[in-house]
Amino acid sequence: VVTNPGHDAVRALLVAIGENPDREGLRDTPKRVYNALLEMTQGARTDPRAHLETTFDLADANGEHTRYGDLILSSALPFTSLCEHHLLGFSGEAHIAYIPGAGGRVVGLSKLARLLEGYAQRLQVQERLTVQIAEALEHALEPAGVAVLIRAQHSCQACRGVRKPGVMLTLQTRGQLATAEARGEFLRLCGF
Ligand SMILES: [Zn+2]
Repeated sequence: VVTNPGHDAVRALLVAIGENPDREGLRDTPKRVYNALLEMTQGARTDPRAHLETTFDLADANGEHTRYGDLILSSALPFTSLCEHHLLGFSGEAHIAYIPGAGGRVVGLSKLARLLEGYAQRLQVQERLTVQIAEALEHALEPAGVAVLIRAQHSCQACRGVRKPGVMLTLQTRGQLATAEARGEFLRLCGF
């Protein structure tokens, strides 16, 4: 019989909470839990910053350069992540914005979603997720400003402990988006 250390560990956990891992409903649970954890942490085995390696300018067919110097916002991107303190899910929406820097480089819209996914699909805390996205954008695009807002509900708060679902908001702003006025406008554009 080939054993899998991941399956064995989940089985041991079931025994530790007084369950019978051989009953029908639990027979495939060790495998399912292990596979779910692998899937939900697949971003940890990638470098999400790689999604920002391809940037482009806004030159048209005649080589005419257009400089876009205002806010670009990808809003209400849904995500799910895994709380590293309890191995329980947290999920919600991320709003990611930047103002292109002097070089005028921009990034494809889907890349922001990929960036979010890469950092969300790992053992996380919401505060770190927010900072990692902001820092990745800062380093890759050298933008004039960055803002990241994440709004999420945490299963570990809803299902155990205080058992109050609640919503957690985290915000990171850099450069031109870090002023009180710019933060206010960003929050309004995000629907707050
Ligand atoms: Zn937690």
